[in-house]
Amino acid sequence: MDFRLTEEHELIRQTARKIAREVVAPRAAQLDETGEYPEDIFQVYKETGLLGLNFPEEYGGSGAGTLGLGLAVEEIAKADNSCALMLLLTKLSTSAIMRGGTEAQKQKYCRGTAEGTLRGAFGLTEPGAGSDSAQIKTKAEKDGAFYRLTGTKHWISGASVADFFLVAAKTDVNAGSKGFTVFIVDRDTPGFRVGKSDRKMGVHGVPTCELIFDEAKVPASNIVGEVNKGFKLIMWNLNSVRPIVAARGLGTAEGVIQYAIDYARTRETFGQPIIKHQAIQMMIADVAMRIEAARWLTYNACLTVDEGHADREHAHILSMAKAFATETAVMAADTAVQILGGNGYMMDHPVERYYRDARQLTIVEGTSQVQRLIIARNVEDDLLNWR
Ligand SMILES: Cc1cc2nc3c(=O)[nH]c(=O)nc-3n(C[C@H](O)[C@H](O)[C@H](O)COP(=O)(O)OP(=O)(O)OC[C@H]3O[C@@H](n4cnc5c(N)ncnc54)[C@H](O)[C@@H]3O)c2cc1C
Repeated sequence: MDFRLTEEHELIRQTARKIAREVVAPRAAQLDETGEYPEDIFQVYKETGLLGLNFPEEYGGSGAGTLGLGLAVEEIAKADNSCALMLLLTKLSTSAIMRGGTEAQKQKYCRGTAEGTLRGAFGLTEPGAGSDSAQIKTKAEKDGAFYRLTGTKHWISGASVADFFLVAAKTDVNAGSKGFTVFIVDRDTPGFRVGKSDRKMGVHGVPTCELIFDEAKVPASNIVGEVNKGFKLIMWNLNSVRPIVAARGLGTAEGVIQYAIDYARTRETFGQPIIKHQAIQMMIADVAMRIEAARWLTYNACLTVDEGHADREHAHILSMAKAFATETAVMAADTAVQILGGNGYMMDHPVERYYRDARQLTIVEGTSQVQRLIIARNVEDDLLNWR
């Protein structure tokens, strides 16, 4: 395995790093405080091509793949997690379309996302169905050339600004995961509306909202893939995005611990900078080890998806990266708060923001427990090639 980056990937990293430092970092505290969606930063992403990293050239992208997107997300997450999530959403709302959509759907929704003329969101979770997503209740009933969708999704990231929604609904309510169908729902669909924004612990720059379907009239041509075959497509979508959630974790860990290291160089106790105390050095070393391991897992997971393997057989590779890197983010943020002491608890320093933002990462896109279930299943099925 060789992770030396191509010239193109190195260029993406440098571009994203510059945007993170010059555009995102100065706005991060304000976004956290106001909960404002940073339209100006979206425009910078659009102008610099970051929105199209994950898409092939024939759909308006640059073909930099999951690894290209992961590198950019890592850099942006060093400065701010909401702004990293904005990039992640380009993949979360379109992976299933790239996998199972029609040419017309790809030309409209994937190209639109790549070029920044459309924004998408992903609607799976419901009040009664999170980890156990086969239990969703939103149903879709055939009505001529349309389907009528009825139900409620909640906690949908980026919904307040999205133009379209990748939505899972039941076309056969008695068939469990075999009754799933994936729809693209345009924002102006009659019978559909975006509900209230949630009050949440962190990641304030990207609002999460309810989606309300009241016999929403969706054309059958907006079905992605086949009727009742959507569960696999939704799992593919989630699997292929897990390396990008891992990249958010990796960048968060790097950003927060770097702040703590810089602080430890200047804060003095007992006659020397605290970075000279071995107890502090041990804490930093523990985080550094985990970051290096998380980086390998994350980049390998990105490459695995780019090789076309977001399937069940490779799911453990993606889940390991997601669980490990996001838990590293939580651990790094917790360590950083400790290194700053009382200042770590105060809003004058950004580490408490990183701490709150990191906490989201082990829950979304499948909790850490769900990732372990996937890993354990593939271990049990002998898919890890240990023999
Ligand atoms: C800020 C935020 C943004 C989100 N954005 C989106 C979005 O854009 N689109 C979307 O569709 N969803 C989104 N979600 C929802 C998210 O994906 C779910 O919260 C997540 O899948 C977990 O579901 P749940 O919260 O219902 O927890 P539950 O499924 O109720 O789980 C509760 C606890 O039980 C554990 N658990 C559950 N089952 C098992 C098991 N079999 N074995 C062991 N432990 C188990 C879980 O790990 C967790 O600790 C978002 C959530 C948040 C908080």
